[in-house]
Amino acid sequence: MIIVFIVIGLFGLVFGSFLNVCIARLPRGESIVLPRSHCPRCNHAIHWYDNIPLISYLILGAKCRDCHAPISPIYPFIEALTAVTLCLTFYVYGLGPEFVKLALFGMLLIVLIFTDLLGRRIPHQVTIFGISMGFLLSFFIPVDNQPLEWILRHWHIYLDVPIASVSGAVAGALVGGGLFYAVGEIFYHAGGKQKEYLGFGDVMLMLMVGTFLGVPLTLLTVLLGSLGGSIIALAATAFSRRLRDYAWPYGTFLGIAAIYAGLDGERLLDWYLRFSGMAR
Ligand SMILES: [Zn+2]
Repeated sequence: MIIVFIVIGLFGLVFGSFLNVCIARLPRGESIVLPRSHCPRCNHAIHWYDNIPLISYLILGAKCRDCHAPISPIYPFIEALTAVTLCLTFYVYGLGPEFVKLALFGMLLIVLIFTDLLGRRIPHQVTIFGISMGFLLSFFIPVDNQPLEWILRHWHIYLDVPIASVSGAVAGALVGGGLFYAVGEIFYHAGGKQKEYLGFGDVMLMLMVGTFLGVPLTLLTVLLGSLGGSIIALAATAFSRRLRDYAWPYGTFLGIAAIYAGLDGERLLDWYLRFSGMAR
């Protein structure tokens, strides 16, 4: 068992290294294949033996081999984070189709969490690819569709297996994306300056989350992301007045919440429904 964790962790480091490339290049509209990675200061191409995840960073002492410019610790951090995320996904789902789906979901979210955090960007290439994959995968891997099935049952409409799952993905996308679109519009028409923070990127992010998670977990993502973001922003503003004008990366909070919802949200929902007396 431990050996599987190690293998998945190593794959996570390699994938994390690729996610670093995506995070650095996609918001600038650059290719993620060519040219090879190079030092941002001296422009020297990075040798393959200096491009080994985590290990090269330690061996090089966080410095470029050629010009000794410091290398940001964000690179090894994202590699380690990807490894941890994939290991947690394996811990929850085992090795199977659901692992592949949730691992892909987690990695897409890691890219968006950091493009939003570092540059306030949520690249459409990532979200459009994610929405397509979430929709496609819903044909093979069931998406929770209990709310819609519950409503349809009142009209004696029962959905078959792939239809139930696919419509669950579509409903999730409409609820997630629609909610954000509505909030953005309300702020805009209310004349608030929030419009720029609740950009279309967040709508795309939530469309993607919806296709992967379905309605209940998408609502949980919105709730946890908004709550977490608000608490952190309020606490930070209380500590420092300068942070009052800081543009908080809403997508980052939503991304973290979505990773949590995909891995452990089902348990939290069950607990809540039992706690509130609504059995499932
Ligand atoms: Zn250099």
